[in-house]
Amino acid sequence: MARVGVFFSEKFKGRSWPIIGDRFRDFPEAFGELLNHPDFTLYEPKPVSEELLAKVHSRRLLETVRAAWHYEGARLTVGACVEALEKIWTGEINSAVVLSVAAGHHAGPDNAWGGTYLSSFGPAILNLKEKHGVRRFAILDTDSHHADGDRAMFRGNPNILHVCFCGFNRVEEGGLKVDVDVGWRTTDEAYLKLVEEEFLRRAEAFKPEAVLHSLGYDTCQGDYGDRGLTPAFFPRLVAKVKAFTDRVCGGRYLIAIMGGSNPQTASLIIPEMVRVLLS
Ligand SMILES: [Zn+2]
Ligand SMILES: [Zn+2]
Repeated sequence: MARVGVFFSEKFKGRSWPIIGDRFRDFPEAFGELLNHPDFTLYEPKPVSEELLAKVHSRRLLETVRAAWHYEGARLTVGACVEALEKIWTGEINSAVVLSVAAGHHAGPDNAWGGTYLSSFGPAILNLKEKHGVRRFAILDTDSHHADGDRAMFRGNPNILHVCFCGFNRVEEGGLKVDVDVGWRTTDEAYLKLVEEEFLRRAEAFKPEAVLHSLGYDTCQGDYGDRGLTPAFFPRLVAKVKAFTDRVCGGRYLIAIMGGSNPQTASLIIPEMVRVLLS
């Protein structure tokens, strides 16, 4: 059995967030009976400190985002990622899912767009390095779009493996920074095979201390980054990565929900993914 933390704020619903809309409108009720599961904990996120943000972002970027209405949501999302990764490291929980708004993989040190205006993984990783000396992480990105922000954030960092499944093939930094073209139309099977070949194989050799996963469901049929995947794909993907983390890095696995705007898909797949993590 594994202990799973889910980070969610009531402030994440009831308004239309950039790109993703009100996708969490049916949470936390969508978790149903999981809310009573002894190994499931729902955490209320706390805003990330401005001090930590200033260590990963430029002053110019922070001035812009601070003036935006979505700043509080972004700050709570980043705070959730920071706290989740720390709780995973100290063993309070084994894995976590962060329901995210306005923060994530399109936010680099000095540039942010596409619905994500602060970096989620930059502060989380820096915090763990500063407090616990942990530095070696594998980042898997299965959103439909290229993770330009995270790539900029971790460029040249030899302790970060970043494998991004998007729309082009590229291998940089001797295989530490990799992009994989999944094709405009793919299938659940073909995508899972690519994850095995291009991420798990590299991560196996890299030996991370934890896996961080930007999990977008914009790739799902009918969503804005549709690549032909079915809702059943997402828990299968999580099961595959979980099995890897159980074997290689003590089950330490952080998932941040990235793109995707359909509320029904969110309510269907996120509880299913948590069920997989609990097993
Ligand atoms: Zn996306
Ligand atoms: Zn990419």
